[in-house]
Parts: sequence; structure tokens; C-alpha cells
Amino acid sequence: MNRAESERLAALLENHGFISASRAEDASLVLINSCVVRQSAENRVVNQLMRLRHLKKSRPEIKIALTGCFVSSNLAEMHRKYPFVDYIFPAGSEPTFEDMADVSRYSLPKQAAISSGITIIQGCDNFCSYCIVPYRRGREKSRPVAAIEEEACNLVEGGARELILLGQNVDSYGHDLAEKPDLAMLLERINKIEGLERIRFLTNHPKDMSPGLVRAIARLEKVCKQLNLPVQSGDGEILKKMNRGYTLEHYRELLGQLRREVSGIAITTDIIVGFPGETPEQFGNTLQFLEEARFDAVHVAMYSPRPETLAFRKYADDVDPAEKARRRKLIEEVQGKIAGEINCRLVGQTFEVLVEGRKKGKWYGRSQSDKLVFFEHPDDQSGRLVPVKIEHSSPWFLRGSLIK
Ligand code: SF4
Repeated sequence: MNRAESERLAALLENHGFISASRAEDASLVLINSCVVRQSAENRVVNQLMRLRHLKKSRPEIKIALTGCFVSSNLAEMHRKYPFVDYIFPAGSEPTFEDMADVSRYSLPKQAAISSGITIIQGCDNFCSYCIVPYRRGREKSRPVAAIEEEACNLVEGGARELILLGQNVDSYGHDLAEKPDLAMLLERINKIEGLERIRFLTNHPKDMSPGLVRAIARLEKVCKQLNLPVQSGDGEILKKMNRGYTLEHYRELLGQLRREVSGIAITTDIIVGFPGETPEQFGNTLQFLEEARFDAVHVAMYSPRPETLAFRKYADDVDPAEKARRRKLIEEVQGKIAGEINCRLVGQTFEVLVEGRKKGKWYGRSQSDKLVFFEHPDDQSGRLVPVKIEHSSPWFLRGSLIK
């Protein structure tokens, strides 16, 4: 979401006549779109700000703007703390570029990324006990269907072939709008856009995913048969303490329903290790759950206490950092083995790959099931949808040859 919002802000700036600079040192305006989901991300924002304060001493004409989750609701306090920052605006709000009229401008045509993100809903009403998002992004606020459709059409006209619908909780899309649209209905509309090849969406919440959405994924041909469904822990007690709002039984049922109704669906998940009070047994339950669920990929994070959250106020961060790192490594090892086995079975199959670019002399892109695929070819393949026969697999990527 952060990247998609950065792209949206960059497009907004381009529409106002700015062009991008490759280094802060060459820029007339530096805009930081911050993320503070973990302490390490927050530290990076502070480091960047300190670097820019230093830069501003030698180039006082440079303008600095700050947005994203680092910006708290107390803007006066933020300005007092960071007096060298010229513009501070909350995450998701529109900056007033009229204020920035004195910044030099150029003109540039707008081109969309092959795979472009669109925010469909901001904020979250869920209050998972570890998460800072509801405090910094506020309550859920859906964008109207027409506005999303218009942006989607513009992106496709600008060259996008895949759209990723984004939100902290896309499954509750529309409940706050007068006509009460939902994600299944939105997918149906976006599916009709000519020239668009693929639609993805994230992030899902196991509590809020409806049977109608599962049917829409199965039925709509442009909707990728791939899903990120964060489970966060494989232990019922920890899930309760996380205030996730579902049980492992519910998650299991949903997983079964998805796999029954959407043939060949690839499912990934997110896990937090070292949540306050997580015992070795409870962590063991998560490892066991991974063996049972057999996800295509797992994104694992070590618990990081965030001020304001319930977990921060209620529980001591009592799992040693070294133990958290050990648990993360164990998850990666177990998942590496599972993903290796899943991907091994894909050798010999042919996938349509949407080519995103070139790395180390090879073209790369993603299959509909979100597998990273590399192949060699002498001609420019970027932006093309090509059939690739898989010849080699690993837990993290596939390699193959383009077939005619
Ligand atoms: S669903 Fe939970 S983890 Fe996700 S953004 Fe909302 S509060 Fe945070």
C-alpha cells in the first residue's frame, strides 16, 4: 500500500509538472511517505529526516514534505518536533500543491507501471491488539466505485495490464458507502475493463471474507487465482490475545472452501512470531499449522511493540529478540521445505507470465498464481504476457523457457 500511495503521490506531482530526481541532493522537493508498522521502519523515517535536516542546512531552498503513518493526528506537535519539514499532511490526505508553487517544475507524460496498485479502502476498524494502523490511518473509508473505475481505466490506458486493489482490509470494502457495494461487485466491474489482463487484491481478513467473494474469485476470468490470507498465529490462545476475531477452526474452513471452489488457487499467509507470552509450545502449534495448511509462501515478522496499541499497553514484550529471530528462522526453514515441494510439482507445466522487467540478464515476471518466473530471451519482453514452460524450481522462484 505504501508503494502504491507513493506512486499515486508521484503521479499527482507529475500532473503538477514535477519530474523525479534520482537523489535527494538534486531535488527541489523531497516527499517522504512513511511507514511505522514496525519500530525498524519508524527508525528509518527518523534517520531520513535527520539526513534531510542536514541537507537543508547546505541547500535551504529545498522543500521537505512528510506524510504516511509517521504523521500523528497532532500536527502542531509534529511541526514543533520537525521545524525543518515544510509540509506535513496525514496519510491518505491530499497535499496542497498550490503551497508548493515556488518549487521549480517541468512537464512529463504519465506512464503507468505494468502492475499498478489502486487504493480502494483506507484505514481499518479491526483493532488487532498489535497493530498501529487504526490509530494512524483511522477508521475504514471506502472510495466510491466510480472513482476507482475511472482510475483503473486511466491506469490501463497508461499501460497497466495488471491492477492490484489495495486496502488494509479489502474484504470490508463498501460497507460505509450509501449504496453498500462490496468487493465481489467491484471485481465484477473492474473485470470488464478492456485491455486489462489481471486483477489481484490485498490484504484480506479471514473474519471478513464472504462466500460471495470466494465465488467471484472462481468465476471472474481476470481475477488471479491467488490470495494472501493472513493467519498470524497457529495457536488459538495467541489469536485471541491478538484480537484477530476468528478461530483456527474458522480459518481452516475458509481455507478448505477456497481450495474446493477455486481450482488451483495459491494461498500465502503472514505470521508474527514472539507475540507477548508466546510459549515454545504455542510457537510449535504455529509450525504444525504451517505443515497442515501448506501455504505457497509465508511472510514472517518478529513482533514489534507499537505505542498506543492494546498489546503495548497490556502485555510485556517478553520474548527475547534472539529467540524471536530463532523462531522466524525456523518458520522460514519449514516453509522453505513446503514451498520447495509445492514448486517442484510445477516443473514441466506451462504458465502465462506477465513480464515485469529484467534482472541479471534474465526476464522476470509473475504467473497468475503469483510465482516469480525467470526466463531468457534475446528480444524485449517487458509488459508482454508470454507462455513459459518451467524447467527448474526452488522455494522462491521458477525458471523456464518461453514457448512459441
Ligand atoms: S486487520 Fe488488524 S493487522 Fe490488519 S490493518 Fe487492521 S488492525 Fe492492523
